[in-house]
Amino acid sequence: HAKNCGKNNAKLYSSALTTQIMSYVKLEVGLRRALQNNELYLQYQPQIDVRSAQVVGVEALVRWRHPEYGIIAPNDFIPLAEETGLIVPIGEWVLRTACLQARAWHQQCRRAVRVAVNLSARQFKDENLAQTVLSVLNDTQLDPRLLELELTEGTLMDDALATLATLEALRAIGIYLSIDDFGTGYSSMNYLKRFDVRALKIDKSFISGLPQDSENAAITRAIIAMAHGLKMAVVAEGVETEQQLTLLEQYGCDMAQGYLLGRPQSQDAIAQMLAGPLPAILTVVR
Ligand code: C2E
Ligand code: MG
Ligand code: MG
Ligand code: MG
Repeated sequence: HAKNCGKNNAKLYSSALTTQIMSYVKLEVGLRRALQNNELYLQYQPQIDVRSAQVVGVEALVRWRHPEYGIIAPNDFIPLAEETGLIVPIGEWVLRTACLQARAWHQQCRRAVRVAVNLSARQFKDENLAQTVLSVLNDTQLDPRLLELELTEGTLMDDALATLATLEALRAIGIYLSIDDFGTGYSSMNYLKRFDVRALKIDKSFISGLPQDSENAAITRAIIAMAHGLKMAVVAEGVETEQQLTLLEQYGCDMAQGYLLGRPQSQDAIAQMLAGPLPAILTVVR
């Protein structure tokens, strides 16, 4: 019967939809509790200076250990955190945890290591941002030069006047500002000149095709040349092979980050890395 069939289809469809909505709502309820339940944690991925082969920084990357769903990657909950505004308290927790950890490494390993924290657009728009950064630095006693904030092109281009004011407030604190995923969004060269940004992070989509992809090679070289012309440093993201690292070294790229040089890992693994000899791969490439 046609009528029955339609009804069944509708029921199937709506139950699938309900399941989707239910899990989304569950995710939101869960995310609200994630902070107080200690379900969020950070991993840290090393950033290596290409010339000296030293670890000069680490990027803090948040993960969520969900009691039912297991480990959830940031791309699967940061958008929800942005939508709900939960990114503000979550972001502050990330900032505080990363700064405390950087200070601890500094004391344990007697090595200054910069910690990079990703900032979403909503956090950047929060009028208390500079105050939050100041009080976290004050509480953790971390040298502001050892804190890097990663912004995206989209965040920076959104509202030019407000952006300049916020950037000026952050610059006055003395932290290190960088542009993440560079090349995937919109940038105005005029703003790049005016913003006091210290580094560009070339998006991994340009690095992944190297060395074969001649267009990505041209883009990578152009970004490095422009950055250096503007007295900015360059970080290549997503470096996975020795050939990529060798090519980036030839291009004069300053820093590299990627699975070849180290996966995102625990604070203890980073402490060992800072205390011990260079990662084997770097002594091989050198
Ligand atoms: P991102 O800031 O561009 O971070 C780099 C991402 O690339 C990380 O993914 C990292 O694990 C991955 N990656 C690193 N090396 C390689 C490589 O060699 N190959 C490949 N294929 N991937 C590599 P992850 O940890 O899943 O984070 C994804 C994104 O989530 C981040 O991209 C960042 O935009 C966002 N995110 C992570 N943590 C935070 C946070 O605390 N706050 C905010 N607002 N966003 C965060
Ligand atoms: Mg990043
Ligand atoms: Mg990012
Ligand atoms: Mg990136």
